[in-house]
Amino acid sequence: MDKKLPLKIIFLNVGHGDGIIILLPDEDKYKSAIIVDCYDGRKAYKILENYNIKNIEAMIITHFHLDHYRGFDILFEKIKKNRIKMKNIYYMPDKTFRENDEKKKYKMFLNKLYILGINNDFVINSSCIDGKNESKSIIKNEEIEIKIIYPRLIDITSECNVNNYSAVLQLIYKNNKILLPGDLEAKGWFKLYEFTKENKLTLTVDILKMPHHGAFYEENEEKTLGTNEILQFIKPNYAIISSAQNKKYNHPDIKTIKKLLDKKIKILCTNSTDICGKEGPCFDDIVIDIENSINIEKYDKKIKTLRCLQKDFK
Ligand SMILES: [Zn+2]
Ligand SMILES: [Zn+2]
Repeated sequence: MDKKLPLKIIFLNVGHGDGIIILLPDEDKYKSAIIVDCYDGRKAYKILENYNIKNIEAMIITHFHLDHYRGFDILFEKIKKNRIKMKNIYYMPDKTFRENDEKKKYKMFLNKLYILGINNDFVINSSCIDGKNESKSIIKNEEIEIKIIYPRLIDITSECNVNNYSAVLQLIYKNNKILLPGDLEAKGWFKLYEFTKENKLTLTVDILKMPHHGAFYEENEEKTLGTNEILQFIKPNYAIISSAQNKKYNHPDIKTIKKLLDKKIKILCTNSTDICGKEGPCFDDIVIDIENSINIEKYDKKIKTLRCLQKDFK
């Protein structure tokens, strides 16, 4: 009898931010994890504790905006205290010339990270793809492959928007594909699209974590990819939106929701906002199990009760 557990991906409800945990199956237990962004260190640690995870294969900071890395400080502390082994950290060095508060925080964070790395023996890697390589491998065996497919050194320009340098991760498990693009915006998507076209690669996936918390990108600017074009390029069946009510950003954008509904892409949000009537967290933490197919905990049951999807968005 095959007792092996499914691969589990958890999109934590962290409000306006990202926190993704991938639990790797090992026969009848989950022993190791990969963490992609961490806005809420306590919540992320709780998952590791619940599944008794003692080994972290990799942590990836897609880019240095606080809603993607603020929680790592707390998570590191808890990991150290509880003697969880950490192997690798991937991050994209911030080469932008922004000299603001965020850059100061980034520098302080990196100092701490390197001291922690020296004392605890884990490897700190750049997530930037070197030379002409197509991708940077995080993990690869017969069943699973997780790789960084963007950015390359050549993609780094004078662009000051760090969202456009978000590490983009592709996960392939038993023919199921997931794309985690951080907060990649229209200019970054265009570069990724051009690269895949030139190299005759396909990037269609089953699940797309919507970039930048469901923001909408228009399509009229040159050398950019709008939301509609991104969805045509990636062709997801499911769209995950990690967001919450936030007066400053208005994410997700109603135009994104409409576009997803038009294309009959199944939407899963970690939290509710004004556009869906604020009836409390939507899916809350989104738990996805992947064996030979994709199974989303309580999806069918939940979807029937969601007022937001029954609302007329036209
Ligand atoms: Zn963000
Ligand atoms: Zn960002």
